[in-house]
Amino acid sequence: MRISNIVPDSASAKRYDLHSHSFYSDGTLSPSELVQRAHAAGVEVLALTDHDVTDGLGEAQTAAQQCGMNAIAGVEISVTWKNQTLHVVGLNINPDHPGLQQGLARLRQFRAWRAKEIGRRLEKKRIEGAYAGAARLARGAIIARTHFARFLVEQGYVRGFPQAFRQFLSRGKPGFVPGQWATLEEAVKWIVTAGGQAVVAHPARYKLSAGKLQQMLGEFQECGGEAIEVVCGSHTPEANLHFAGISREHGFLASAGSDYHGPEQTWMDLGKLPSLPEGCTPVWRDWNVYATAPREALA
Ligand code: AMP
Ligand code: MN
Ligand code: MN
Ligand code: MN
Repeated sequence: MRISNIVPDSASAKRYDLHSHSFYSDGTLSPSELVQRAHAAGVEVLALTDHDVTDGLGEAQTAAQQCGMNAIAGVEISVTWKNQTLHVVGLNINPDHPGLQQGLARLRQFRAWRAKEIGRRLEKKRIEGAYAGAARLARGAIIARTHFARFLVEQGYVRGFPQAFRQFLSRGKPGFVPGQWATLEEAVKWIVTAGGQAVVAHPARYKLSAGKLQQMLGEFQECGGEAIEVVCGSHTPEANLHFAGISREHGFLASAGSDYHGPEQTWMDLGKLPSLPEGCTPVWRDWNVYATAPREALA
């Protein structure tokens, strides 16, 4: 472990990226590749937050120790709230917590059924072999809509991800299957009982009215949610500022994450996140992260 110079320095302005994916969910890199790329891009504290699964966390931790950076154990939990899908990120979770793992296992069971159902629905639209194709691209890991999107692009049904989602995979489209994910309360409970902090992911991306968003944030806070992603790879600069204001008004801690999925498929590249707007209290306020090895130390 390259932490000869152990200095808890939660107050310093390290570069945090607290939302990213590996091929254990719908990213394209291995956890080690992800960590190495993040390190090379100047990220000093990285959370791997795969959808509904924690299988990549051990490898991420080992890779981070090897290059002298901090890996945070995370997860991104799928939630159904008033017929909408929301994502709640858990940070600094204990991945071995049985309650968390039982909950995630249930979501993965739904995912497995849903993947077959998406395949059946696409078949009715004369798209053959979508389930098998998505499963092949998922390489034995969980199957996400992202894998269907990749299959549709690969087979020439669509030109890119935006079209795949717009035409086939979004709500109301032929391949859309309504979610039966965790309740908001369950997701927060699993995270908190596993010792973690619950964070509303990419709040600007939900199709909720201002009133419903306030209601959701209120419920989230009531059941123990602490933070929202103020700065996010899929947010506009205006959205970052807007949610900075909301975090202050509601007394939420502020998180920052790129939501990186891989070099060819991403909202924003690693190492490019803007800093938190002024007046935000960082979600990492009380964390003990360690002095990070200089990038030049990389072999
Ligand atoms: P799932 O959790 O299987 O329903 O898949 C959701 C994932 O699909 C998200 O985590 C994103 O990675 C991806 N996604 C959703 N909407 C879009 C979009 N419009 N363009 C690209 N990727 C998207
Ligand atoms: Mn994703
Ligand atoms: Mn998400
Ligand atoms: Mn994500």
